[in-house]
Formats: sequence, structure tokens, C-alpha cells
Amino acid sequence: MTTVSRRELLFGALALGASPTLARLSPDEPQDDASAPRPVFRRTAIGDFEVFSLQDLTIVLPVDQAPFVPSVDREEVSRALAAQGLRTGSVGLEINVLAFRKGTEVTLIDAGLGPQAGAQAVPALAAAGIDTKDVKAVLVTHAHPDHIGGLLKLDGTPAFPEAEVFFPEPEHRFWSTQPSETNVADEAESDRRVRARDVQRTLKALGERVRVVEPGKVVRPGFVFEGAFGHTPGHCLVRAESNGEQVLHVADTLHHAFLMTERPDWCYTFDADPVAAVATRKFVLDMAVADGLRLFGTHTPFPGFGRVERAGQSFRYRIEPWVY
Ligand SMILES: [Zn+2]
Repeated sequence: MTTVSRRELLFGALALGASPTLARLSPDEPQDDASAPRPVFRRTAIGDFEVFSLQDLTIVLPVDQAPFVPSVDREEVSRALAAQGLRTGSVGLEINVLAFRKGTEVTLIDAGLGPQAGAQAVPALAAAGIDTKDVKAVLVTHAHPDHIGGLLKLDGTPAFPEAEVFFPEPEHRFWSTQPSETNVADEAESDRRVRARDVQRTLKALGERVRVVEPGKVVRPGFVFEGAFGHTPGHCLVRAESNGEQVLHVADTLHHAFLMTERPDWCYTFDADPVAAVATRKFVLDMAVADGLRLFGTHTPFPGFGRVERAGQSFRYRIEPWVY
């Protein structure tokens, strides 16, 4: 596990490898620390797809330094964590990446935080017996560093050399058109521009591998982007379906499976548009209950599968028991 402040996450220090706490996680160095990340995956099936959940990294956000829910008093957040039987001083932000294999072709949904941060999605893919050349498509739910950092190798070249990389159209449009000149006085504006610059660099490095798809359209057989805007302007879910079985990848609708289902009105610290993010979360949770959906979350407890049920005026998250 890796402990970072909100600022390190927010300003991309993780993706840039600039944090001293992460220096020891460099893949070039021997990792003899028992707490250092190791490649871990779990395998399941959805219809004709062989499905792999890849454990990328777990980031620990101390509640007192990095308010997970900035609009809510920290004591109240701690009380809510305690009520769920969880430790109260920090919250764990897990990062999970989902891979689908059919025949020899592999489709990824997001790519994790990337090698600069010592994240493990690609090593976990290798542990599952999948070569990066087998990945023919990556569907990007949104362009935050914990979702696109893994698209590039340490040398800045594409991590998946034979993959088309699909972005939801509104997400691609937003980041492509943001100003990225960083020499501005306002700190918050400068930070926003650093994020935009990093996304634009990634898009440039991917070059003609980039594909732009409207939400609601089939991205490739079995995969559809569904608009779930608010966390970012073009944030999308991915619904994957095969032979009557499906999973809804909820991406960053649930940053904390238990808090955000019990209090869907609480806004996560990185939600760009808090009002839209909360409305989207409630809509997705309502739909998940009504349709009895199997969910997968980037930030839900590994291996990331679960369901939600109604609990009074709110919801309750149920981790899917894993069958090995
Ligand atoms: Zn995320």
C-alpha cells in the first residue's frame, strides 16, 4: 500500500513518479519490502469472455490530511467509517483494472496508474499469461491518471503496441481543448493545466491509436460506453455483455463502495462537478438495484465485483464472494 496526500494524487505526482514515498516503488529497484505491491489477478467468466481482474495499486488517504469527502466534517466521515466496521483514520482507494479475453484478443477497461507509480496492472496481466501485444483495445472511462497512466511505458511509448484506445467523445473533447500552458500565477488553474498537459501528452504519444466514440454507441462487440458525467465532463461507464451475461463497470461512480452507497449524496474529493456527480451516482445505484446488475468498480474492494441493494432511503454494497 502507498500513502499519499490529496495534493500528490490531485496534481499527478504519482503519475510523474515525483513523490519521495514512491521512489522505492520504482520497478528498476529490488522490492524486498513486504508491503511493496506484487502482481495479483483473479479470473472469472462473463458469457464467452474470460475475465481477469488485475490489482493495480492501493492508495491510502489519511482522513485528516486528505479529506475524502471535503464538504463533510471529518468527524462525520470517521463516524460513517466506524459504523461500517472500518478503520477511521484513513480510507483505502483501491485501483482495479478489468481485462476481457476472447480467443487471442484482449480488451482492457482502463489501464491503471502506470509504471511510474509502481502500479501492477501490466505485471498482473503478465502473471495471467497475457502479453501486452495481445491487448487489441483499451476502453478509457475517463482521463484521470489512475485510469490512463498505464497506457504508456516508462519511456513514454505505448504500453499496448497493438491496441486501439477508445475515449468517450465528451471526455476526449474536454481534455483536448483545455489550455495547457502552465506558467500562470493562480495555483489551482496551474494545477488544472498540468493535468490537461499530461492528458494531451498521452494522446499525442498514442497518436493514431486513439479512437473517439459517442456514449451509447457500441465501442466493439460486447462493449458500450454509457454516459455518467460529473466526476469528469465525459466520464463513462462500460457495459460488457456476452451470451446473456453482463457486468456494468461503474468506473469512478463509487470511490468508496461502502461510504458512497450509504451516503450517495456525499461528493468525492476529485468530482469535477459535485452536483452532477451525485445525481449520476444516485441514478446508477437506482439502475443497479432495479436491474439486479453485477457491478465492477475501479475503486471497489479487489477483485472489484459486487452488487448493491436498497437500504431504507439509501443503498448497501455487497462484495461478491469470489469463487476460485
Ligand atoms: Zn479513479
